Formats: sequence, C-alpha cells, structure tokens
Amino acid sequence: MKKLQCIYEDGDHKWYIIARDPAKPDYVIDTNEYLVCADGESIILDPGGIEIFPAVFSAVCEVFDPTEIKTVFASHQDPDIISSLSMWMEANPALKCYISRLWSPFIPHFGGTDETFINIPDEGMDIRLGGKLLQTVPAHYLHSSGNFNIYDPKAKILFSGDIGTALVPAEMNTSLFVENFDEHIQYAEGFHSRWMGCEKAKTDWCERVSAMEIDMLCPQHGTIYKGDDVKRFIEWFNQLPIAVAV
Ligand code: FE
Repeated sequence: MKKLQCIYEDGDHKWYIIARDPAKPDYVIDTNEYLVCADGESIILDPGGIEIFPAVFSAVCEVFDPTEIKTVFASHQDPDIISSLSMWMEANPALKCYISRLWSPFIPHFGGTDETFINIPDEGMDIRLGGKLLQTVPAHYLHSSGNFNIYDPKAKILFSGDIGTALVPAEMNTSLFVENFDEHIQYAEGFHSRWMGCEKAKTDWCERVSAMEIDMLCPQHGTIYKGDDVKRFIEWFNQLPIAVAV
C-alpha cells in the first residue's frame, strides 16, 4: 500500500504526496503522485501508471472522494505519468487532463476522448483550483519535448516532474525529504546527465525557477528538496553536463 502524507496545510489548502509502496514490484520504477486540494476541489499531479493505480486510488480515498476529482495534470507523456488515465476516467468519465499541446493527440492511446484534454500552450497557463491558481511552468526538453512543472505560489511548492529525480537504493529510500544533500545528490547525477536533453533548456529553467520563491521542490521520483536544498539543487543542476550517454 502506498503511503499518503500531507506535506503542506493552510486551512483546506493542502498538498499530499502518495509514495513509497513496499508492495510495489522491484521491476517498476518508484513514483510519487501528488494530490492538491483547495476550497473543496482536488487535482492529481502525474497520477501514475496502470500498475500502481489501485495503490494510488486507495490512498486518495483516505482524504478525498476520487469520483469528485475533476482534473489531472500530466507533466509529460510517459507511461509512469499518465497510463492510468482510462482507469481514473472510470471513476469520473468527465475528468479533464491538462497536458502539453504536443502530447494531447498521443495520450488518447492510453484513454480519454476529444472532450478530455486541455492543451497547455508552450508558454504555460494557469490552472484554477477552487479560489487558488496553480501556474504551469515550462520545462521543455527536461526531459520531454512538451514538458511542464506546476508552481503553487501560495504554498511555495514547485512540482518539478522528472527534474530532481534521484534513484536512491530502495533500502535507503525511506525519508520523504532530502536529509543530507551531499550524500543524496550522487543518486541524481546519472539520471539527469542521461535523461535531460538540452543544455539551453536546462540553463533557462534554472534561471526561471531561481527567480521564484520555492520552499519545496517536489519531484515525481525520489525525495523532496526543502529549504536551502532547493537552491542547492538548482545550482547543482545548472553546472551539470547533460545529454550525455554514459
Ligand atoms: Fe518521464
């Protein structure tokens, strides 16, 4: 069973992470899903793949009626991000999915109809959640050609998709938060050098997010960067050679 844990709370504005399923088969990469709630509404960020759908669905049930979830956000097209779409649509056939305009013609191969997709333009757009606005932040080529992060300016949380991923060995992957940055970052290096495809996109992203107030940088795999570790991560990423097949 995946654990659901609240990482931010201000009244009914809440961020939950759904992570760390000890029952998950080892051959499936570990993922984090995020449920954001505000003013009685909810959105799931990168709801995940078919394999882990039952674990994510039952975790969501602990705090929110899944049939009431009206929107999901997909940072990009990968199977571990959005292949569960048709299963979420069984809970709510009117579900909307925000995704880059590049990927909306491809994702119906996983599920959805012409009513399902809301195309995010390359420059990004706001997503309304109750009375709050979430911003989609362009992160193209990091790693996907049409790729977005989500920034919550009120909570000061950046959901960074694959950026920030660390493939920490399972036995060490117990804490939700980075505890020792220097120890941790070795598990992020191979992933970022291989999967991140464009040097200019990387430096642009680093400049863009450096100007934002971020208390937590939350990746789709691995561990959350908090406080000063957010800046440390951005500086580390900025100087890392990428697009390297090692
Ligand atoms: Fe991916």
